[in-house]
Amino acid sequence: MNYLDCHNHTAEWSDGRQSIEEVLECAGVRRVRAGLSDHAGLGEYLNSNDRLLAYADFLSQYPVARGLEMDLGRGFVLAPGVREKFDYMIGSVHGIELHGLRIGFSPLLQYLKGGLPDYNPGAQIKDWDLFFTAHLEVLNREFGEQDYTILGHCTMLPPLALGKPEEAFPEWWEEKLINTLLIHDVCMEISNRWLSPYDRLMKKAVDAGVRFSMGSDGHDPKKTCVLDFPKEMIGKFGVKEDRIFDIRRNLESQPISRG
Ligand SMILES: [Zn+2]
Ligand SMILES: [Zn+2]
Repeated sequence: MNYLDCHNHTAEWSDGRQSIEEVLECAGVRRVRAGLSDHAGLGEYLNSNDRLLAYADFLSQYPVARGLEMDLGRGFVLAPGVREKFDYMIGSVHGIELHGLRIGFSPLLQYLKGGLPDYNPGAQIKDWDLFFTAHLEVLNREFGEQDYTILGHCTMLPPLALGKPEEAFPEWWEEKLINTLLIHDVCMEISNRWLSPYDRLMKKAVDAGVRFSMGSDGHDPKKTCVLDFPKEMIGKFGVKEDRIFDIRRNLESQPISRG
């Protein structure tokens, strides 16, 4: 099966370390189809409808699926004429506001790369129930506001640094998260980069009828279009093909529209 990897970044439009040509090369070698999803949001280069139009126009020159990764909590609403230029929209949380203070997740990212061994999210986040509640509030607010397709790396959250995810993430949050995805018809991304979701959450999501997307979250050619983890999860939990997000057009021959 020639899967669609919905989640890749370039150097030209966000924080990737590769060109779109390199992404396409990875897709060819790894026998998947590539989707591009550079970061968008108020703190990103892609912070306006005009820039998104330019991005969509750029993508339309290549045989790729056209996506974007909006920074939930710092997002902006796409104009209708802009939204229709994209095949899908990923929303991901990269930081959360608690008591009026934004807690960015970059220390978590450093920790997961082995660069910040003493990282202790509990020092910053005293009340985990409040944290998880704030997370769900962001999702419900943003998904209610516009047409999202995919929730990116849903467990890439500070609790990931606390140990086993089955112990760090509460079951009430899992259930509310799944409910949120079902209400707004948003897919749960299976992320190769973040090994997200973990087994218990995946099983609950499958049982509840959630749909999934696959993402390498590739920033460089080493990991771009690698879908080992998503494929493993799909096999392990018996996810049927019709539950996996795909686009309707053939990437070689049917551009959405130009200009
Ligand atoms: Zn992300
Ligand atoms: Zn990403």
